[in-house]
Amino acid sequence: MRTPFIAGNWKMFLDKEKGVGLAEELVKGTEDILDREILICPSFPLLSDVARAIEGSKIQLGAQNLHYEEQGAFTGEISASMLLSIPCSWVIIGHSERRHIFKESNDLVNRKVRSALKQGLKVILCVGELIEERESGKTEDVVREQLVKGLQDVQADGMKDTIIAYEPVWAIGTGKTATPEDADNVQSFIRGILSNSYSEDTARNVRILYGGSVKPANIDGLMAKDNVDGVLVGGASLEADSFLRIISFGE
Ligand code: PEP
Repeated sequence: MRTPFIAGNWKMFLDKEKGVGLAEELVKGTEDILDREILICPSFPLLSDVARAIEGSKIQLGAQNLHYEEQGAFTGEISASMLLSIPCSWVIIGHSERRHIFKESNDLVNRKVRSALKQGLKVILCVGELIEERESGKTEDVVREQLVKGLQDVQADGMKDTIIAYEPVWAIGTGKTATPEDADNVQSFIRGILSNSYSEDTARNVRILYGGSVKPANIDGLMAKDNVDGVLVGGASLEADSFLRIISFGE
């Protein structure tokens, strides 16, 4: 059984006071939740304070990016060991904003994935197509390439610490959501690729999240699908009410 996984990506929003306040509200609101994993990914400067706020709770902590080198003269960058020392256990890699605004290639994404796993972080690897790629029937080609290149040289063992997030770029922050059927189709395709690259067993155990304008109004329909094992939420994770409603899907 794949435990549902609900992740919030705070992006470059919330200052320390608001971020800690939100984390405290989430801790209170998730006390009785047993059957799902919850992750929040604040910006780097908030990680230590948010780590203290969620200590002893069910909420896990993740970062939104890292550098693939273990250390060095890389001004402005953050290493895996720095994240682990906070302690922060997850990192989002290959988010579409990193790929498209900061021009991160599949090769760079792969270096980050391998380095994060090697050093003991768990990874959410994001993949997803642009609107013009979807409209020209290239969704599967793009997703396959991002997945295969992003996971190059990652062994089956590494997949135990890896989650895939399917995030169609046209649905991120736009209010347009893929239908539950669209998400399920692409996510079933992703599971098929994992089965070919690794094994049926590995593919069956990897969690595949959907991301792109997930809201309280559409969470139940998405989570009802076989291949939607959770969600990666941007905007709606910035307020306790909406994120808690998403966390308690199906109730
Ligand atoms: C995201 O940041 O990964 C995301 C899916 O954002 P939003 O929920 O705002 O579309």
